[in-house]
Amino acid sequence: VVGKGHERMNLFTPGPVDMSREAQQAIGRPGLCHHRSEPFRRMMSKLTTLLQAAFLTRGEVVILTSSGTGAMEAAVANLFSSGDKVLVPVSGKFSLRWAEICEAYGVNTARIEIAPGKAPEPDDVVSALEADPAICAVLLTHCETSTGSLTDLEAICRAIHDLELLRSREILIIADCITSLCVDVLRVDDWGIDCAVAASQKGLLSPPGLAFVSLGDRALKRVRTAESPRYYFDFRKYLHTEIPFTPAIPLVSATLASLSHLAGLGPEPVWRANRSGALAIKLLIQAAGMRPVAERQASGVVAFWTGDLDAAEIAHSLEREHGITVAQGQGGLKGRILRVSPIGKGPGALLGFAAAFSSVLEKMSREVDMSSIETELNRLLEDCSIWE
Ligand SMILES: *Cc1c(COP(=O)(O)O)cnc(C)c1O
Repeated sequence: VVGKGHERMNLFTPGPVDMSREAQQAIGRPGLCHHRSEPFRRMMSKLTTLLQAAFLTRGEVVILTSSGTGAMEAAVANLFSSGDKVLVPVSGKFSLRWAEICEAYGVNTARIEIAPGKAPEPDDVVSALEADPAICAVLLTHCETSTGSLTDLEAICRAIHDLELLRSREILIIADCITSLCVDVLRVDDWGIDCAVAASQKGLLSPPGLAFVSLGDRALKRVRTAESPRYYFDFRKYLHTEIPFTPAIPLVSATLASLSHLAGLGPEPVWRANRSGALAIKLLIQAAGMRPVAERQASGVVAFWTGDLDAAEIAHSLEREHGITVAQGQGGLKGRILRVSPIGKGPGALLGFAAAFSSVLEKMSREVDMSSIETELNRLLEDCSIWE
């Protein structure tokens, strides 16, 4: 499964990830389906329904032509007005992005600084909200992809909703679920997330270029009243009407094909497969004497300290000798960590990665004791066989 050459499927990066077979077949089909045609309208409607099922929401889902960051910016532009006050826990590069976007729109942004590898906890969020009654929203990051840290969204949402009742306040919850949709357990309506953002190139195993925003009733009300300037990404243009601008038609077909397949597998097996894939990678790096960065491990990516071994050298050898692409650290973590994503990877691909990783480390005089983890690894890989 793992080998040299570009024809092989070897992206172990936390986005984009290798496309599903279904997405590949759809993207390879010749001809375009015109976006003002009945067949395309049916495709958009099916994709919307599947996205609602994936987010587990009965709210609206807006489909945008952009990468994930575009949808994050769109959420801020549509939900807030300049001068509104919001809270952003910052625990890495992606949660920082929420703060930067809010600031670009003149939204008054209170930050909670959190050490890399840690996630915001309910108490952190509640204390910050109690300290400032003017805060009207919290922007969270479900999987902080720079560290592989999973935020306990369910617990934080519950704490915020309790506070809302206690203090008769409305506090909107916006969540970046870009690396968690169809990867980690996510229940938008049950947890009371007003607005969740996702993209095509991670858990949906589709090409990059589409982004999705779920909007509950309270968020929809804000969309109507927010005063931030917006045009292309004005959600009012997308709601209850046909897509306003020429969409990335092939990406709609590819994402529809891939998400239909995922829906057929069912949410629980998909969550379990990605979770077990992440635990398999974690087991492997621990057998190599390395430590994961995250305290609470997300399923979308495992980030780990390479210790006295040079992270860049490991990444280059994996690429050059085995055709495997992994991600390096960003910002202050560059050269010190590697990030490997198990999203959509079956037992063959994961064993291929394990063999390549061990071989690269052996050349750097580091032994990986595979025999000590064999039983546990095989047990985890069974869950991943849905991908083969
Ligand atoms: C990938 C990712 C993004 C979006 O990145 P784009 O390159 O704009 O698609 C945002 N947040 C998180 C947590 C991500 O993993």
